[in-house]
Amino acid sequence: WGEMTDLPRRLREALPAEWRISEFALVQAFPSADGSVKYLFTLHDGQRAEAVYLPYADRKTVCISCQVGCPAGCTFCATGKMGFGRNLTGPEILDQILAVAYHQGLSPREIRNVVLMGMGEPLLNYENVTWAVRRMLNKHALAMSPRRITLSTVGIPKGIRRLAADDLGVKLALSLHAPDDETRKKIIPTAHRYTIAEIMDAVRAYFDRTKRRVTIEYTMLRGVNDREEQARELARILKGLVAHVNLIPFNLWEGAPVAGSGKKRIQRFAAALERAGVPVTVRWSRGVDVGAACGQLALRETKPLSL
Ligand code: SF4
Repeated sequence: WGEMTDLPRRLREALPAEWRISEFALVQAFPSADGSVKYLFTLHDGQRAEAVYLPYADRKTVCISCQVGCPAGCTFCATGKMGFGRNLTGPEILDQILAVAYHQGLSPREIRNVVLMGMGEPLLNYENVTWAVRRMLNKHALAMSPRRITLSTVGIPKGIRRLAADDLGVKLALSLHAPDDETRKKIIPTAHRYTIAEIMDAVRAYFDRTKRRVTIEYTMLRGVNDREEQARELARILKGLVAHVNLIPFNLWEGAPVAGSGKKRIQRFAAALERAGVPVTVRWSRGVDVGAACGQLALRETKPLSL
């Protein structure tokens, strides 16, 4: 602040009490062979956050985190295994976009897509996440379209309804991962708090309010959730909802207690969904070689796996 000599001295002296200049320092960048880059940042208190830059032919996307670690504890996710550190503040969530743009040599407004799919559960850090989203949307800040912001949740009905009522218009992605409560509890230990029926009611309410197609994320785990009858059950619970299913092949990380489904099994599952009239895409993750893919973020400084 002391160097801002164009400001009156008294203002310069008063500013540090209420404002902090971002101390978002890059620890390490992990460039993947596929062009994506994972960034590990350190925060003002020494905690760390990860963001991933994903360049596509038609858009530049950043995947950002909203918590240090995650309280949801999904069994297939390296972040979940870390446990929960703390919520990121609104500025720390927003800063990830600015920092990634900076390190990519881009202006922040060249980032046109943001996915809240990094570390943490956005709806358990609601105030700070929506603070950041409002600045992404603000035409004097990042001026993004709400269609270009996707919030991914493990399914907190109250949070989904609140997001609908707040009318931010962002896209919703639901990490469902199973078509029945018993299987889901094995994958997401905290899933016992809400049934799939309760979550789907809230998701339908979100669609009714926003008219935005909902994305259903489904990580394919061998022998757990990948049978064809489970695909038919999934189609049944999605009936009447405008939704698109993303089947995500499991991305391996060290010490993972689950294994991924094979390619053939994934294709059979996808075909069963298609036969039932459900739009589906198999999403091969990017950045797998540098631990930047879905479920792999774990704040490691060195290359996590040789695949
Ligand atoms: S998949 Fe998402 S919600 Fe589940 S533990 Fe990982 S970061 Fe948390």
